[in-house]
Amino acid sequence: MSVWEYRDVSIKFPCSPYPSQKVFAEKVIDCLADGANGLLESPTGTGKTLALLCATLAWRDHVRWKNIKALGGDAAESRVATTVPRVVYASRTHGQLAQAMKQLRSLDSGAAAVALGSRDALCANPRVKDRPTLSEKNQTCNFLRRTKTCEFHNNLNKSEPGQLQVGQVLDIEDLVRSNAKRRLCPYYWSREVSPQAAFVFMPYNYLFDSVTRRSLGSDMMKDSIVIVDEAHNISKVCEESASVAFTMQEIALALSEVSRATFLSV
Ligand code: SF4
Repeated sequence: MSVWEYRDVSIKFPCSPYPSQKVFAEKVIDCLADGANGLLESPTGTGKTLALLCATLAWRDHVRWKNIKALGGDAAESRVATTVPRVVYASRTHGQLAQAMKQLRSLDSGAAAVALGSRDALCANPRVKDRPTLSEKNQTCNFLRRTKTCEFHNNLNKSEPGQLQVGQVLDIEDLVRSNAKRRLCPYYWSREVSPQAAFVFMPYNYLFDSVTRRSLGSDMMKDSIVIVDEAHNISKVCEESASVAFTMQEIALALSEVSRATFLSV
């Protein structure tokens, strides 16, 4: 373990950091201390995910201790917990998120973390999982919930408070596995517990698609530290979320309707 101080923040690394990792972590602290947005770049293979995670964990500890001192002792612990910023970590693919979560788990920091994913990745109901497209999965899920005929969602609604707590790092596979045993819906379970988690890992569309972002609730991003990994992909993702694809058939139909409307108005 290697520990150093930077701007009164104690940064812990599980090993001796490369000089580039040290600079990277310090730049993250600069952004957080100054309340600034940062655009940080480092070549592939230089351990930037580890530097990011160690720096944000260090910042959370720094804020916690500063606020305990300001608010006064153990009695304030629960109040202090709400003042420590959540870390929202977005990446392009589930694979990249799983890698980052693996690194967070290896740090053994005690920080609870949960991944958010689509119904495609998380749904437990065979009637929905077998639908061929995501849109059909979403529609069938909505129907089953509305008619209260999804056993996994009904169980979630009846669950004890203890079943709605996240105490460890849970990626998509962990969510599916742990909720399968309890027959709870992993998709809605992860959304339910995410406000308590120190780290919330999510694919890009949760950040950049306004409809999906709103579905998380207004508090998810409020006062959070937002990390966008592999950010060179952002322009493409924004382009995709603001685009609609038409088939040739739809265009032909629209043209024929426009011709009819023109004919009728003459
Ligand atoms: S509520 Fe959950 S388990 Fe049930 S259909 Fe929807 S996503 Fe699947």
